[in-house]
Amino acid sequence: MKQHRFFIAAEQLDGEQVSFSPEQSHQLQDVLRLRPGDRVRVFEGIEPVDRVVELTGAAVGRVVDRQSQPAEPRTRLVVYPALLQRDKFEPILQKLTEIGAAAIAPLLSARGVVREAPDARRRERWRAILREAAEQCGRGVVPELVEALAFPAAVERAAAAGTVLVAFEGEKRCSVHEGLLGAEPVVSLFVGPEGGFAPEEIACAGRAHARVVTLGPRILRSETASPLLAALVLYELGDLSSPGDDA
Ligand code: SAH
Repeated sequence: MKQHRFFIAAEQLDGEQVSFSPEQSHQLQDVLRLRPGDRVRVFEGIEPVDRVVELTGAAVGRVVDRQSQPAEPRTRLVVYPALLQRDKFEPILQKLTEIGAAAIAPLLSARGVVREAPDARRRERWRAILREAAEQCGRGVVPELVEALAFPAAVERAAAAGTVLVAFEGEKRCSVHEGLLGAEPVVSLFVGPEGGFAPEEIACAGRAHARVVTLGPRILRSETASPLLAALVLYELGDLSSPGDDA
């Protein structure tokens, strides 16, 4: 059976001894019904290894083995998905984590229905979603949650970091493949809200030398476009190949 995987803070690890938090202990005992002698895996987001831990008590265990984690993409993928209503936005966070985004920056866009930056509680909830997705998919890195920015500031920041692709349904020619020619090690992706990007946002992207790309002839929902674009970019850059395949 697949071992359950937990993200732990570095302080929870003391030599070979692991202390679980009260929530983790509840999960281990009451939800998963694990007992001393059962094994789980933990990772702390620093060393690229999973530690196999044998439970020795209700909230403690000891490291009995180590396993390497799947490699992170070589490309640092930063995704700026337009903020959507909660039931649409939260799955995007989960899916972008599974696909391999290094950082996610909620985008405040002119035509978005959601116009306010998330408060501290909402951000905490989003961090938990990112953490749980990383635990589930075997990643050793939990994507960074960047502060929400309005489009002009976001594009400026992304352009300073490297290559920028903006998905725009009005673009008919430039494909993701073409948009990535000569791509830099940091690639930032922008996907608009339900109402699409405003013309002034597309103009602003052009001034920042962002590459405006098409995702094909059909209009996709924002929550479809973000994970699709992330996957296409990593695929194009050879970052979705199988483990150990360096081609
Ligand atoms: N309101 C717009 C569609 C917005 S779709 C309309 O009806 O015309 C939401 C977002 O998904 C867009 O802002 C864009 O970033 C992305 N998107 C959807 N379909 C796309 C396509 N075919 N090509 C490029 N981007 C697309």
